[in-house]
Amino acid sequence: MASWQWGSSRIRVGRAVLPLVGAVAVTVALVPVLQGTTEPTSASDETRQTLPTETVRTPRPAPNLAGHRVTSNSPVRVVDRVRTAAPVVFLTIDDGVAKNRSVLRWFRQRQVPATAFLTDANIASDYGYFRRLQRLGVGIQNHTSRHSWLRGSSESLQRDEICSASSRFESEFGIRPYLFRPPFGVWDERTRTAAGRCGIGWMVQWSVVIDGGNVDYRSGFRRLRRGDIVLLHFTRSTTNDLRLFLELAMRSRLRPANLEEYLH
Ligand SMILES: [Zn+2]
Repeated sequence: MASWQWGSSRIRVGRAVLPLVGAVAVTVALVPVLQGTTEPTSASDETRQTLPTETVRTPRPAPNLAGHRVTSNSPVRVVDRVRTAAPVVFLTIDDGVAKNRSVLRWFRQRQVPATAFLTDANIASDYGYFRRLQRLGVGIQNHTSRHSWLRGSSESLQRDEICSASSRFESEFGIRPYLFRPPFGVWDERTRTAAGRCGIGWMVQWSVVIDGGNVDYRSGFRRLRRGDIVLLHFTRSTTNDLRLFLELAMRSRLRPANLEEYLH
């Protein structure tokens, strides 16, 4: 598979379409260097698919997110950003409700690595669509069987939500997921226990949301930073959100990388 090329990329700034180098220079001039700020918090609520139409939203409080820290003896670790010295950023796409051909074309043309956190109930009508994405380099990971609210539910219910999706994906996609994203980003310690018993190694949250052209930086930095995990959804606007993701990555001189290569 061909690697992703920066050199031929162009970026839109205001009305002008500029070569990448020019665009980076403009962006650097516009974005002050932020230092001494705290590590980002993250959100507990997964972003809904209808959001206010502002360009950049302010961060929300994060009552239920462990960040990079391991908060119990559970072997399942929780991450919302990846600690790395590499200039990389991670693209993740959730649920699987919309199945746009334009998204397939975008990945075929751009060769950008990504991870899809899929809900079995959303994709069961067309596993073939997601197998095509998988062949284009999109990793298939677990976002439960029915997108249930897990926090407060019994361990057996949580285990069923997670394990049944993993088993289904193993038969449909030939891989057994080891990454898991809880629906709405909401979980409790039973979730970690259940996930571990389903073969999950990491619960993956996020630090930036792009949805319908809106960008929500949970850290408040208002730009992508290395190690950010960016959340999109499979919706009617996914292709536009993918373009925006790539534009923001270029502005921050970050390369989209494969999350599965960083979380072992
Ligand atoms: Zn979801």
